[in-house]
Amino acid sequence: MPGIDFERLRREITMEQVLTLLGFEPSQRTGDQWYGACPLHKSAPDRSRHFSVHVAIRRYHCHKCHSQGNQLELWAAFTKRELHPAMIDLCRALGREIPWIRRW
Ligand SMILES: [Zn+2]
Repeated sequence: MPGIDFERLRREITMEQVLTLLGFEPSQRTGDQWYGACPLHKSAPDRSRHFSVHVAIRRYHCHKCHSQGNQLELWAAFTKRELHPAMIDLCRALGREIPWIRRW
């Protein structure tokens, strides 16, 4: 299977797009820093703020299950797949083309 241009996906897919697919509803927003219930370990959907996301730099961190990474890694963690198949899945979910790396 050809490689995928992860750098391009990292640039072009926003954290907000991934959070929308996850159905994430922040319980608090402080500028670009959003807090809420963790979509990965399924914390109680109350006013939990274990999960924090910086939407501008596109990084997340959960203070309970300790998962962290960028927006692409968040999708991979949520779908419990390796990054490569997870990115094919993510492009389809967003209705965009997969940026294959073609080597000649
Ligand atoms: Zn968590």
